[in-house]
Amino acid sequence: MGTQRFTVEVVRLTSAMLGEGFVLQRFVLGPINTNTYVVTDPEGGVAVVIDPAPGASEALTPILKGFEGKVIILITHAHFDHASDAARLRASLGGPPKAVCVLHELDKSMYRISEGAARWFGAEWEDPVVDVYLTVREGVEPVKPLREEGVAALAIHVPGHTPGSVTYYFLDARAAFTGDTLFKGTIGRTDFPGGDPEAMRESLRRLARELPPETRILPGHGSPTTMGRELRENYALKQALEGDES
Ligand SMILES: [Zn+2]
Ligand SMILES: [Zn+2]
Repeated sequence: MGTQRFTVEVVRLTSAMLGEGFVLQRFVLGPINTNTYVVTDPEGGVAVVIDPAPGASEALTPILKGFEGKVIILITHAHFDHASDAARLRASLGGPPKAVCVLHELDKSMYRISEGAARWFGAEWEDPVVDVYLTVREGVEPVKPLREEGVAALAIHVPGHTPGSVTYYFLDARAAFTGDTLFKGTIGRTDFPGGDPEAMRESLRRLARELPPETRILPGHGSPTTMGRELRENYALKQALEGDES
């Protein structure tokens, strides 16, 4: 541990406020420039980490160790570049009740593949230690540990990139963390093990139904965008949605 030398780029999205005074930060981490997002409530109520990428434990532990409130780690999917540091970060913060981890149960099937991919990229993999498994199938369910902290967030099941891919939608903030399902200008790949192009099309239709156009989209790689902009300009997304009518 501590031998990984990957980029740490901190982008403070100061204009993006999640609800009452929440502050959003984006860390670009690991061998394939994954976005690890940290949403903190300066009042100390709750901090949310989305997708702890390789190096996230090292980068975030000093920031979150002194944080008074609960730390909720949300994984959009269990590819190594999004989940390698979940177990390490959870443990370094002392585990529950201080730090809990959330993942869709269907992505347990990705662990062995992620372990191999991490080795290939020279990153370290540990199976996530999960406190709350999401079980929703092709629909939407509340994210319970967040609801308990008074934050309204939905898990939208979006299989296609992986069987257990999830978009986390924060209702008051009108922000959605889309992992590797929807990016600025393109959509997620479906040619990895567990990928499913037809499921991906259905999932993109689900996102288009659930997320109003003003929703800020925070993808697993690359820049933020909005749902409205993607509906207008994202050719791959438009193709998927048009298939609806044919
Ligand atoms: Zn992925
Ligand atoms: Zn990725």
